[in-house]
Amino acid sequence: MTSGGHTTVIKRVLERRVHEPATREDTTATVAVMLRVLPPPHALLVVHAVDTREQLERRIHKEMLDVAVFAEHETLACLRAQFYPLLITDSAALIRRVRAAKLPRVPFILYITPVDDPEEIESGLSAGADDCLWRHASEPLLTARLGTARRIAELEEVLRIALLENRELSTTDELTQVASRRFFSKHFPREIERAGRYRRPLSLILCDIDFFKHINDTLGHAGGDAILRQFGVRLQESLRRGIDWVARLGGEEFAIILPETAYEQGLDAARRLRACIADRPFPVQGNMIEVTASFGMCNLEQVPVGERKMADHMLRVADAALYRSKHGGRNRVTATLMPMQPVRHAADPRDGPHTP
Ligand code: GH3
Ligand code: MG
Ligand code: MG
Repeated sequence: MTSGGHTTVIKRVLERRVHEPATREDTTATVAVMLRVLPPPHALLVVHAVDTREQLERRIHKEMLDVAVFAEHETLACLRAQFYPLLITDSAALIRRVRAAKLPRVPFILYITPVDDPEEIESGLSAGADDCLWRHASEPLLTARLGTARRIAELEEVLRIALLENRELSTTDELTQVASRRFFSKHFPREIERAGRYRRPLSLILCDIDFFKHINDTLGHAGGDAILRQFGVRLQESLRRGIDWVARLGGEEFAIILPETAYEQGLDAARRLRACIADRPFPVQGNMIEVTASFGMCNLEQVPVGERKMADHMLRVADAALYRSKHGGRNRVTATLMPMQPVRHAADPRDGPHTP
């Protein structure tokens, strides 16, 4: 359900609104748009009684639900392969099996009862159905019940998309509290533009924790997360407050942006950062863990005005420097002064000194 155009529309709506203070009407309108652009939910129809099945197929409009008919024995495999927000069935046994299967996402289950009888309804509900409907229910009743099921499915979907998008739109990395990758993608090019405008130098440092997989393997994922959290704090502590900034680009890789910073100062900063990680072990789960990281620095003495691809070039050059630090034995800094011409290939840049 999340593929295709409607997710893009939702994304755009959310992106626009993230910059505006949310009022109550605003939120209502956002939800309304999100709901409107969703296509009819997929529904699985698993009904043994042939006449009931045919009747339901005829009566459920395409605009209401996108129905796929399956046999009972195929249902679980089908639900594991793809999420169907709605399951319509006349089999209480199937409902029990779906509930017991511990699927990551459970559909809304509508039980079609063979007779219009309270006991039948109770047995459907106790099997795990969300709602029950007699197979000969009137047209308005069928429409109303399917409408409720659809609304629940859609609201759940909208909530899921909103939470996901919210995480993506966030400017802060949840785990380490440094800037997010998204923030970096947006603001690093702006730093370059600014440096170009005022003819100021700019340094970029990329760093990657050494043998982090091993750290994760020994301490567990939670231990790895604890290291990442402290790592972010340490980086920030040894930088100029309010000027330099740190972003987590993903996993155990970070970027440090040093505005107004020439080559020598940038190199000093990178050396300081390396030392602040390697010189003091990290307290995790009652143990002191030695951690090192490799650094790649790249410096622009002057940004050519109007150079739009410079962010990518700088990243590539800093990444090549980081790669050299890794292959040179890790726990070190490699620095590169960017040539004035855009770099085409990561192997092009002149290498600066390797330390320590
Ligand atoms: P190298 O010195 O070459 O950088 O080796 P490495 O082990 O650090 O690099 P590799 O890329 O092989 O492993 C990175 C590991 O980081 C693998 C992945 O499971 C882990 N990782 C990525 N994101 C997270 C996270 O958010 N938390 C934790 N705990 N681990 C993560
Ligand atoms: Mg690593
Ligand atoms: Mg890595």
